[in-house]
Amino acid sequence: MRILLVEDDSLIGRAVEQALRDAALAIDWVQDGDAALSAIKTEDYSLLLLDLGLPGKDGFEVLRLLRQRKYSVPVIIITARDAVEDRIKGLDYGADDYLVKPFSIDELQARIRAVIRRKNGNATPLMDNDILSLDPATRKVSCDSKVYDLSSREYALLHALMLRPGSILSRAQLEERIYGWNEEVTSNAIEFIIHGLRKKLGKDTIKNVRGLGWMVSK
Ligand code: CA
Repeated sequence: MRILLVEDDSLIGRAVEQALRDAALAIDWVQDGDAALSAIKTEDYSLLLLDLGLPGKDGFEVLRLLRQRKYSVPVIIITARDAVEDRIKGLDYGADDYLVKPFSIDELQARIRAVIRRKNGNATPLMDNDILSLDPATRKVSCDSKVYDLSSREYALLHALMLRPGSILSRAQLEERIYGWNEEVTSNAIEFIIHGLRKKLGKDTIKNVRGLGWMVSK
């Protein structure tokens, strides 16, 4: 899952970037509103973390333009502004949630999970099909009543597939979902991760659709 962080404070930006990367999320970080708008034009993000006080266009303006341009990407506002009017304005401008700084990274992660769950129309926190069950809160996967610990990349890739069970994702689509801008991707990286996943979880867990990509069953 790939997230865009819009935050001009380097200290906070670095901390959030690192923490979310450790949590197996792909994250791109920009420091002003225009950079955010152009990143959203070119990349397919699952979620936007948006600071309000930004140089140039502020967060409200970025949010207003996004929604005006019909981008439906979920937005969580992260800001030091805790006035009720700001929260109301943020939500009414089309944000999905609002978190006041300083916040705990654990709470941020839980809110990200909740927003993604809602976006995908899931009431329950577990993602499962007939074969696999994946828990975004613990990043554990169960299969045949065994529980598996996956590497960050393995988890990120499986999560991307489980978000769209029954749909084929190509190598490029998987790369886009699990790697951020600053991360180097080797040409066979995706095949390598899939190979590792199948070895752990069993061959039938991820189907290879020759020439097109991979999928998990519905
Ligand atoms: Ca700021």
